[in-house]
Amino acid sequence: METQEYFAVEAKAVVMATGGCGRLHIQGFMTTNHHGATGDGIVMGYRAGAPVVFLHTVQYHPTGIVFPEQAEGILITEKLRGSGANLVNFDGEQLVNEREPRDVEAASIIKECVVENKGVPTPTGKLGIRLDSPMIEMLADEGTVQKESPGKYILYKRFGIDISKEPMLIYPTLHYQNGSLELQADGRTCLPGLFIAGKVGGGIHGANRLMGSSLLDIVVYGRISGASSAEYIAGEHTDGALHLDHARSYSSEIDGRVAPALIPDYTDPELWERQLTTSYVGNVR
Ligand SMILES: Cc1cc2nc3c(=O)[nH]c(=O)nc-3n(C[C@H](O)[C@H](O)[C@H](O)COP(=O)(O)OP(=O)(O)OC[C@H]3O[C@@H](n4cnc5c(N)ncnc54)[C@H](O)[C@@H]3O)c2cc1C
Repeated sequence: METQEYFAVEAKAVVMATGGCGRLHIQGFMTTNHHGATGDGIVMGYRAGAPVVFLHTVQYHPTGIVFPEQAEGILITEKLRGSGANLVNFDGEQLVNEREPRDVEAASIIKECVVENKGVPTPTGKLGIRLDSPMIEMLADEGTVQKESPGKYILYKRFGIDISKEPMLIYPTLHYQNGSLELQADGRTCLPGLFIAGKVGGGIHGANRLMGSSLLDIVVYGRISGASSAEYIAGEHTDGALHLDHARSYSSEIDGRVAPALIPDYTDPELWERQLTTSYVGNVR
């Protein structure tokens, strides 16, 4: 299909499920997210006039692989900490209770490396904390790590590292952005005909998502948004002609209180990062 024809297609409703924005590598953090997680839906919706919520809050998974660098950002599940692998600093000291929530764990690791200067240097010049996987076998039987975590055991083996004998090097990795386009209970946005589901919808988890609840939300809102959009298409449209009143009212609301470059520009990751993490966002939250 030619580009012009493509844009000429008229959609009565759109259900957007474009996921998150981990690949913007906010503040230079590595990420667990796939390479399609570039925040496209958030930017498109925002530019069309949909408000964003909680965009200033991002969830870091505390234990991302920081070495070997080919595996950077990959998530090491909580299961290892639950099985007895402690988080230890350069001096071999345990730095946090491993049963704390993700944000507490991640903050403790960053503080230990950046503020306390007790991180472990990696061969690639970064800092990490040791996740003491050999402890799992000291508490249970020999072979438990390979049996219970075969994927990670094999992954590290490819790089000549036996994680049942050597600790892993980890650092927090960008995992989830709690914020996105404002989602209404029936899957709508404030824009007529635009429905959302999944990570492009913000507000379901407030400022801090609890682990394991995202797959539930994509299934629930996939169904709700799908059903709502079908109802919308079948019903009589009373939305009237297209207009930009929403953009004008938003513009007057923020007038004089924010820097002019508020519109997120995902083609410039540094600018996007500043917009996400500075008081620009706070001013209009
Ligand atoms: C390693 C890992 C483990 C996780 N484990 C759990 C767990 O155990 N439990 C849990 O609840 N949650 C978990 N999560 C979170 C959960 O997987 C995600 O929140 C969820 O998959 C998001 O679904 P989504 O459909 O919104 O986005 P995605 O699954 O990211 O899908 C978005 C899709 O849209 C595509 N797309 C993006 N932009 C465009 C565009 N412009 N045009 C066309 N297509 C586009 C993308 O390529 C992608 O295919 C985990 C996440 C990761 C990364």
